[in-house]
Amino acid sequence: DEADLNCDLVVVGGGPGGYSAAFRAADLGLDVVLVERYPTLGGVCLNVGCIPSKALLHVASVMEEVKHFKDLGVDFSDPDIDLAKLRSHKEGVIGKLTGGLAAMAKMRKVKVVEGSGQFVSNALLTVDANDERQIIGFKRAIIAAGSESVQLPFLPEDERIVDSTGALKLKSIPERMLIIGGGIIGLEMGSVYAALGSKIDVVEMLDDIFAGADKDLIKVWKAMNKHRFNRIMTRTKTVSASATDDGIAVCFDGGSAPQSETYDLVLQAVGRRPNGHKVGAEAAGIQVDERGFITVDKQQRTNIAGIFAIGDIVGQPMLAHKAVHEGHVAAEVIAGEIKGDKKLQTTSFDAHVIPSVAYTDPEIAWVGLTENQANEQGIKVRKGVFPWSASGRAIANGCEQGFSKLLFDIDTGRILGGAIVGPSAGDMIGEVALAIEMGADDVDIGKTIHPHPTLGESIGLAAEAAHGSCTDLP
Ligand code: FAD
Repeated sequence: DEADLNCDLVVVGGGPGGYSAAFRAADLGLDVVLVERYPTLGGVCLNVGCIPSKALLHVASVMEEVKHFKDLGVDFSDPDIDLAKLRSHKEGVIGKLTGGLAAMAKMRKVKVVEGSGQFVSNALLTVDANDERQIIGFKRAIIAAGSESVQLPFLPEDERIVDSTGALKLKSIPERMLIIGGGIIGLEMGSVYAALGSKIDVVEMLDDIFAGADKDLIKVWKAMNKHRFNRIMTRTKTVSASATDDGIAVCFDGGSAPQSETYDLVLQAVGRRPNGHKVGAEAAGIQVDERGFITVDKQQRTNIAGIFAIGDIVGQPMLAHKAVHEGHVAAEVIAGEIKGDKKLQTTSFDAHVIPSVAYTDPEIAWVGLTENQANEQGIKVRKGVFPWSASGRAIANGCEQGFSKLLFDIDTGRILGGAIVGPSAGDMIGEVALAIEMGADDVDIGKTIHPHPTLGESIGLAAEAAHGSCTDLP
């Protein structure tokens, strides 16, 4: 036997997909090894993604909110920013969570091996850390190696050009900042730096920012972000950039953009590329497409028996909550096979919808069919919109620009999609996702008693509006 260590299941990558799969498999009685190249678990999401960005966005949103308090009779003086403290707050948040994961792995007897995993066959994985190599023999494997930022080839090597990981380091507050890419990640980071005082331009190649989002959400977002962003240049390409003493000089091509402009910090946020070509998948015969995605079926199986893949590495949307669910599916199918449990073996990834959220100010959130898609695909829908200007809670909270919108099947009345803009939109969209999964119709949602006065009430009221019986509850 060539292996140093044998197990039922090896999981390559300790992000949300990987640790969720490892924990579920261990709970189901398997002997699990979790391989992660970095010293902490949690992957992109906990270390350099979802969580640190939200720690900073929370601070940014409070800073923005208190600005308006002067008009309400409470004046907070201008903020005094201690960047070192802010950084250590963010690190503290990450530390609590990654430490928690390490403890949970230990409790479940999941063996965490630090190092870079590479398949050498369909039954063996090498793990390299420093000068040491371990060989792990496995009955089953799950690839959960995630993704990395796309680097634009024409940008020079310079410490003033960063990706989201660099931006989250919060080394300094740039006076002039450019964000290349008007997607969720770019605009979330932009919101943080804007609150800290940077003057920010955004450049986006497509027709609009937040690709895929409901257009009405974007309208409200733009109106509320005029003061925060200097320019948002859509349909514009970044064509070149050069490092100068004064900053990074960037040339643009498109509509209303200037020919060139100089910045103290450039954030490239043009998307993420899967790590499919970086795990030795080819050595095990695993199919990887030209972009680096590993092809899987509804049970997360690759083309090679016994090897599964989950998370960012298997396709869009690249979101942590999708990775977690796929991880559970793979773990259950594998446990079913090894333990001979027929019911577990039939598990499959069967989500009807996966919600998307931008945690900006305001938050925007959408799930299922969007109105743009309905129009493009000629799907006739019944629409219910509840403007928050009619919500007592929204007015009390100063967020009456928001709204909640639901789309229903014109014949059956079943809910097809939803979109919300305003504070806590991300927390509320889960209810719409549940309604879609349960096949709820406008009456089900409208007659569900929501607590008053809450922003969440707007979902019930949007359903009633679609039904043509809007109540006058403020
Ligand atoms: P990852 O989290 O990428 O984890 C993969 C792990 O595998 C990494 O730890 C990596 O080190 C390890 N690895 C890779 N190759 C090897 C190897 N050969 N050997 C050993 N280990 C290896 N998603 C949301 O849902 N909500 C958000 O708010 C959100 N915010 C984000 C903000 C930012 C700035 C970024 C960059 C992303 C954000 N995402 C968000 C996306 C989210 O982080 C990813 O979808 C999620 O982390 C994917 O999980 P994963 O398990 O597939 O992979």
